[in-house]
Amino acid sequence: MSIPPCDVLVVGTGAAGLTAALVAAERGASVLMLTKGHAPDSSSWHAQGGIAGAIGDDDTAALHAGDTERAGRDLCRPSAVHVLVEEGPERVRELITMGVPFDPELSLEGGHSRRRVSSVEGAATGWAVTSLLGRRALRSDRIATIEATAVLSLLAADGRCIGVLTPEGPVTARATVLAMGGAAALWARTTNPAGQIGDAVAIAVTAGAAVADMEFMQFHPTVLEGSRLLLTEALRGEGATLIDSAGERFVDELAPRDEVARALVRKGRAFLDLRSIDRSRFPGLMAEIERSGFDPAVQPIPVSPAAHYTIGGIVTDLNGRTDINGLYAAGECAATGVHGANRLASNSLLECLVFGRRAALAALDEPPLPASLRDAAAHEPAAPPERVAPESLREQVWRDAGVMRDPAALTELAASPDPVASLVARFALARAESRGVHYRIDVPAPDPAFEGHFVLRPGRGLALEHWT
Ligand SMILES: Cc1cc2nc3c(=O)[nH]c(=O)nc-3n(C[C@H](O)[C@H](O)[C@H](O)COP(=O)(O)OP(=O)(O)OC[C@H]3O[C@@H](n4cnc5c(N)ncnc54)[C@H](O)[C@@H]3O)c2cc1C
Repeated sequence: MSIPPCDVLVVGTGAAGLTAALVAAERGASVLMLTKGHAPDSSSWHAQGGIAGAIGDDDTAALHAGDTERAGRDLCRPSAVHVLVEEGPERVRELITMGVPFDPELSLEGGHSRRRVSSVEGAATGWAVTSLLGRRALRSDRIATIEATAVLSLLAADGRCIGVLTPEGPVTARATVLAMGGAAALWARTTNPAGQIGDAVAIAVTAGAAVADMEFMQFHPTVLEGSRLLLTEALRGEGATLIDSAGERFVDELAPRDEVARALVRKGRAFLDLRSIDRSRFPGLMAEIERSGFDPAVQPIPVSPAAHYTIGGIVTDLNGRTDINGLYAAGECAATGVHGANRLASNSLLECLVFGRRAALAALDEPPLPASLRDAAAHEPAAPPERVAPESLREQVWRDAGVMRDPAALTELAASPDPVASLVARFALARAESRGVHYRIDVPAPDPAFEGHFVLRPGRGLALEHWT
């Protein structure tokens, strides 16, 4: 099958990819969206609690920025936070105008000083947003979508990215936007769909793009034991408590996620007590808990942390531009620095909307591809095989780069043949301190010497940079 060239190629059909595709198409570009799975295989589809955005009467962008920076532990890139919180409310209002059926009340989540999270049926936000954006993309005659087609590598010529290689052959485009999500499914215990193993970072590093912050994997504290089912933070915002086997509370339920996750690991076994929660606020989630064999009305639910959100990724500026001409990244696969060392709950769907839009607008300025470059693509060598994450690798990543990390285990993981697992370990070894979601048992406190972002740039090795 030969895939025709397009103006903007978007890889990934989660919230960031759909946003980028719709924005580019509305401005007249021909867009192709590629995904290795189907709609439910994105993290966006499964997102629960909601989308942060200062739209409440008692709220301001400055308050949202303050909460984001506090959660990020002195590492958030201030310019990225400014963009996120200033443009965020407008993006949320656009979704309301499009018809996303947000609940009438804003939710409260950990780390937020105000009720500012817009949600759908308490915990069905991701599905509601991505299915609505997906329907709009389907209706657009400028957007084509190809599913079940993995991107295996980037195509480059004349110092610029000219598209991607897939098992079906090359695809060329004026601009390529990677919206391929995170890497949390590289950990054995995860909330992410199985395919989210960090392919974006793997292909971008191979092509010579810079990556940053790979040591920062956020672990969600309350995931149903033995499953991927996340029990949203909004439940704790509504009064659910965390208790130990003796029924005693042991942690501030609305403390930042990293603190709650570590408290759970130290405790060994923990339960989320949902008995006081109004079930009608979270109808879908309560039904799923019941399908998993628990009755939230009568018994506390056993929970433990799981890898959840990838803070690190491909380095971009505030318009999604990477170090490679013609290549953009947005959403969870990008490292804008906006989350610092710890992502504030519900800031990531917002990140997809804000930075997905910005990346699309910038991509539209790319010059057309000369025919000679398109022809060059036709002569590309065969694509590399699709990257996979066998159970043994995922177990090793969980063991060696989990909630609490020790340097000996990280050193072993650094030798992994998997490029992303190895990068995580190398970054985690370089950050010889504990900050935000990255916790080293040998150095359990933050060290001001590490107030910066570790970045791997081709030819320059791993170095600490200060982003403004
Ligand atoms: C269970 C769960 C609950 C969450 N709840 C919330 C929440 O309430 N609020 C919030 O803000 N955030 C939440 N998050 C995080 C948030 O959902 C994600 O950060 C965000 O949706 C990421 O969107 P994205 O578009 O960047 O990537 P994704 O939505 O993950 O989409 C990635 C896309 O890339 C495709 N892809 C990957 N690799 C390849 C490849 N090699 N070739 C082709 N295609 C590829 C995938 O198939 C997919 O289509 C949650 C996450 C999970 C897992």
